[in-house]
Amino acid sequence: MELWLPLGLAIVALALGTLWRREGRARRAIAQQARLDLKSLEVQLSSAADELAWVGPALAASNEILLAVDSELRLRFANPAAVGRFGEPNGLVGLFSYSTNLELEQLARDALETDSSDGLARTIRIEDRPFKARAVRAGREVGLALTDVAELQRLTRARQDFIANLSHELNTPLTSLRLLVDTLLSKAGNDRQLATELANKMLVEVDALHLMTQEMLDLAAIESGQQVVRLVTVPLLELAEETVERIRDQAERKGLMVEVTIEPGLHVLADREQAARALLNVLHNAVKFSPTGGRIELGGRQDSPEELVVLTVADTGPGIPPEELGRIFERFYRVRGSTPSPGTGLGLAIAHHILRAHAGRIWAENRPAPEKGAVFHLGFQAA
Ligand code: ADP
Repeated sequence: MELWLPLGLAIVALALGTLWRREGRARRAIAQQARLDLKSLEVQLSSAADELAWVGPALAASNEILLAVDSELRLRFANPAAVGRFGEPNGLVGLFSYSTNLELEQLARDALETDSSDGLARTIRIEDRPFKARAVRAGREVGLALTDVAELQRLTRARQDFIANLSHELNTPLTSLRLLVDTLLSKAGNDRQLATELANKMLVEVDALHLMTQEMLDLAAIESGQQVVRLVTVPLLELAEETVERIRDQAERKGLMVEVTIEPGLHVLADREQAARALLNVLHNAVKFSPTGGRIELGGRQDSPEELVVLTVADTGPGIPPEELGRIFERFYRVRGSTPSPGTGLGLAIAHHILRAHAGRIWAENRPAPEKGAVFHLGFQAA
């Protein structure tokens, strides 16, 4: 009996020891696992923080207005483009108070109620500008993205106008060519003098068609950057006089007086041919818009050595509505309701591109009242 007691105690101690060691191993394994979990959580957190750090600049770079609202339509996020448009949000403000736009608030409200995962899209107006607006619900929050489509709509309209103009402008010379050919082929065409007259009229129409196609080809070439600008020193007076010669006949036919008053000492850095092309386009308009018996004046100036040398072309036409002065250099742009005249709305766009390629600029204004007429300024780098 005395022998059994220590033996029993030893067995119990052994069992306890084994249990303790097993327990320790289990605890160590759990601790090890916890350390691994913690590590992977840290990695996930830091990569999420990294991603967030990149989201900021991306949101700042976006031209789109990005907003997020909660289920109560309170503003939770506004990117810099949104702040630029609606201002800095003042605390937890409602979407309507922030944007003062009912259509936007309605869109967010509708998005909250829709089941569609694609969200909702509509065109809304903000301060009179059209925006393509998209709203997507995520849980009980709504994300809103707004894209300004005013420019897109304007370009689409300009393209449609251009096609309509072009068809009209092509139609007019083609119809008269058809009539002239018919007359030439009829008995009347046997009269030598009449035939010559008809042929000359056909020549005018063919020239107009040629100018139109040339303008389109030029603009395409300039815009695709295919034209190389070879700058040389060009005397301004020479450039003006040579180019005026090219419209002399046209001007005389309309009884227009063309005067060139340019100091011989003015020189510009220009690609002769391209500079003449820009000036020719301006002169063509001056002839086209001036009334019979009008006057076209070409002048030149350099106010100070650092400034551009400016060639001016002033006419006695109707002038340009002040609100259109900045837009007439856009391609295809023609002042609505201006005297009907052949043209595509490309001439000034070409001149604008050419001056830009010369590190110069072109702009227009009207003669000071009570005089009438447009004044175009072509600024070149001084040679
Ligand atoms: P277009 O082929 O129509 O002449 P332009 O690009 O040369 O195209 O000119 C664009 C528009 O600018 C013209 O349609 C006209 O409305 C206006 N414009 C240009 N020059 C003059 C001018 N000298 N006087 C009045 N309006 C002008």
